[in-house]
Amino acid sequence: MTQPSAPSPRHVIDWGQIDDVLLDMDGTLLDRHFDNFFFEEELPRRYAVLRGLPFEESRDRLMAMYRSVEGELAWTDLHYWTKRVGIDVVALHKELDHMIGFLPGAEEFLHHLRLLGKRVTIITNAHEAGVSVKSAKTGLDRLVDRIVDAFEVGYLKMRPEYWPSCQRLLGFDPARSLYMDDDEGCLIAAKRFGVAHLVHSAKSSSQLPPAPLTEFCSITGFAPLLNGRPPR
Ligand SMILES: [Mg+2]
Repeated sequence: MTQPSAPSPRHVIDWGQIDDVLLDMDGTLLDRHFDNFFFEEELPRRYAVLRGLPFEESRDRLMAMYRSVEGELAWTDLHYWTKRVGIDVVALHKELDHMIGFLPGAEEFLHHLRLLGKRVTIITNAHEAGVSVKSAKTGLDRLVDRIVDAFEVGYLKMRPEYWPSCQRLLGFDPARSLYMDDDEGCLIAAKRFGVAHLVHSAKSSSQLPPAPLTEFCSITGFAPLLNGRPPR
């Protein structure tokens, strides 16, 4: 397979048309390998020990629990999982924080947005306790104007109710906003609400192959978004 040497024209962003940049956290700015490993490997391992189960059965049980609240705030609520699973998942986040890190080029992209003078907001489905561990580890909170978690908005991003509520909270103009996420359902909800510039993060984990989408501008790194020139 040959890769194009330059981004195609539809990947070139006209930054003059954009005031607000709304960015997902896990899988867009931060390597989702941490979250995948945490929920699909380490938590099942700990739960297996706690319950005296074989690993496969432990993982199957946890996956069924995750599915039972998919799309609801409980899905990402670390306090909910601490109670339901019987393991302190916030403490376990801290224990494994050496695995938390930026995706390649993410920090440079955030610095570039600052030079361009954009208002940059992280909008995440993640829970405040997880955001706090990740900010402490990476300094992510210091590179953006604000981090808004789904609990502040009251819904997860894939829900249609999320977008008007988030828009009221932040006051962005959907026609002059860019939103980037690795989750297709979240991008579809944003598109239906009318967010004009949508970008899909196709390389959400350092440990998984890219998973591009055809219906969105789908990119495996930040280079196609760096075409805007900072003001002199
Ligand atoms: Mg994500």
